[in-house]
Parts: sequence; C-alpha cells; structure tokens
Amino acid sequence: KLFNEVQEAKGNIRVFCRCRPLSKVELSTGCTTVVDFDAGKDGCLGILTNGTTKKSFRFDRVYTPKDDQVDVFVDASPMVISVLDGYNVCIFAYGQTGTGKTFTMEGTEQNRGVNYRTLEQLFKTANERSDTFTYDISVSVLEVYNEQIRDLLATSPVSKKLEIKQASEGSHHVPGIVEAKVENIKEVWTVMQAGSNARSIGSNNVNEHSSRSHCLLCIMVRAKNMMNGECTKSKLWLVDLAGSERLAKTDVQGERLKEAQNINRSLSALGDVVSALANKSSHIPYRNSKLTHLLQDSLGGDSKTLMFVQISPSDQDLGETISSLNFATRVR
Ligand code: ADP
Ligand code: MG
Repeated sequence: KLFNEVQEAKGNIRVFCRCRPLSKVELSTGCTTVVDFDAGKDGCLGILTNGTTKKSFRFDRVYTPKDDQVDVFVDASPMVISVLDGYNVCIFAYGQTGTGKTFTMEGTEQNRGVNYRTLEQLFKTANERSDTFTYDISVSVLEVYNEQIRDLLATSPVSKKLEIKQASEGSHHVPGIVEAKVENIKEVWTVMQAGSNARSIGSNNVNEHSSRSHCLLCIMVRAKNMMNGECTKSKLWLVDLAGSERLAKTDVQGERLKEAQNINRSLSALGDVVSALANKSSHIPYRNSKLTHLLQDSLGGDSKTLMFVQISPSDQDLGETISSLNFATRVR
C-alpha cells in the first residue's frame, strides 16, 4: 500500500535510491565509502564530500548495499499491480555505468530483478482475480541507440526505420514491432533471453554497447471485466537507461562523440519531462527525444512513475554520485 497511501499527497512520481556494495577490486585497491546511511531517518542519505562536509539527500526510499532484490521489489510491487487496474506505469533505472542499473532491472538468474519479478507478480495477481477479470499480457523488447529504435524481438532484420506513431485515441505505439503474447512466467524468461541475446548482435563489446544504449521492456495489458464487460488497455515500461557518466573530452571523438551527445540529450530530455511533471508545468516537452516520446503514455496524466537512482559508494565515483543525486532531486 506504500504507493497508494501517499499518492494523494505526493503526486505520481517516486524516487528510490539504491547504493551497491563496494566491489572486490575497490576493496583491494583501498577505495573508501563516501555514503552515510545513518545520516537521518528513513529516506535520507548523507554524502561525505570531503573529510568533514556532509551533503544530505532525501528520497522516498533508500536501499543500502545490504538490501536485496526482494526488499526492492516489495516497495515497487504496488505500482506494478496498478497496471492491472488500468494505470500506465513507468519504472526506470538511472545512474553511472557499474552502479547496478542492470542488476536492479534485469538481475541475474540467482538474483532476479524487477523485470522478471514484475511479470511474476502480474501473473499471480491476474490469477487471483480470474473470477472477475480476464487479462491478456504481451511484451515488447526495444533498444534506443543513437536516437534509433531497434526491435530486439524481431526475428528478421527490419528494413524500415521504426517510428513512433500516435493512434487516434491518443496513445503512442511503434507500428511493426513484435508484441509477444505471454501466458506464464516460463515464456517470459524465454522472451527476455531472446531480447538480451539480440542486444549483443552487431556490437563487438556487449557491456560497452549496453551502457551506451537504453533498453526498454514494455508490458501491455488488456483487461476485461467479465461482470460489466468493461475493457481497459494499459502499459508498463521497464527501462534500463544508458550510463549517465560524462566522458572525458579527450576520449570522445567520432562515433563516440555522437553516442555521448545522444545519451546526454535523451537523459536531459527525460529529466526535463519528469521535472516538468513534478512541477505541474503546463508544457511537457515529450518530443525532445525518442526515449521520452516512446514513454509518453506512461509519464504524466494519471500514470505512475518510479525512478531508481543507482549510486556507487566509492570515493573514486564521488563526482558522478553527486551529479546523479542532483538529477534525482530535481525530478522529485
Ligand atoms: P550498470 O548496469 O549500472 O552498469 P551493473 O548492474 O552491471 O551496473 O552492476 C555492476 C556490477 O555490480 C555487477 O557485477 C553487479 O552484479 C554488481 N552489483 C550491482 N548492484 C549490486 C547489489 N545491489 N548487490 C550486489 N551486487 C551488485
Ligand atoms: Mg547495465
């Protein structure tokens, strides 16, 4: 009930901050922790900007390195379930490369993340409601790289450029993308594997490529209330964003420069949209990037948005950590 209880007072945007543990390499090279979780009560964290100064930040939730995938999903699940009630939802992970965006969203086979748990939860709740409702669930897996959309479930290469179109009733979609109908969690795992395999095709360094592109899982739900015949259509986007780090100017040339500019532009566009929504601005600039245009139906209106801001505890990453926390504070 976490989300619904406070919704009235706080609007539809939540920000959860998650800090990963220090890695083995960081521990062995003497990195120290700059994050202080005892800074305040629930939702607060302090960052030691130098030996003595502490800057504090407040979020709807803060997860320490000790919190696991279950702890995180417990708080996200009310929002996830609301897609079965007809709400559009968007959950995304923001942060520097290596801070755990993919760990939070995708997770690993032993430590499944939000994506898998979401579908598991949807099937479970749908089943509990099967006396009254029938649900049709399908998924698409997309990548946005250099402002171009790629369908990761397409079995043959798509010759035409994928574009976003607005349907007559106002909703946005990408004509031609694969929408895979899923009936159970086993099928979901197969689809997710297919998406992740497709992501690596055509790139010589998979990790590098995935940190320079946005990966999006879209879950489409069609619900029918069998008592009154009422039908609803809703969408849940789960997004593993490109790394937010700034590259050193000297490292960035040619193709890398173009990539960096596109990432920069789309992440700023996302920040602008979410902060315009948080500030109840009359103009929401969805059209400034493919990312925000794609997510438009699930950002704003009565839709629900959750952002995970992922951070590193290491003193070596202090600058990026502060910049991610500032980004997240701006959208709150
Ligand atoms: P990103 O997607 O932001 O680049 P990853 O998800 O790939 O980062 O995480 C980087 C590394 O840190 C991975 O080896 C991952 O397993 C590990 N990691 C991230 N978050 C956690 C966490 N909360 N607990 C344990 N390991 C984590
Ligand atoms: Mg990643």
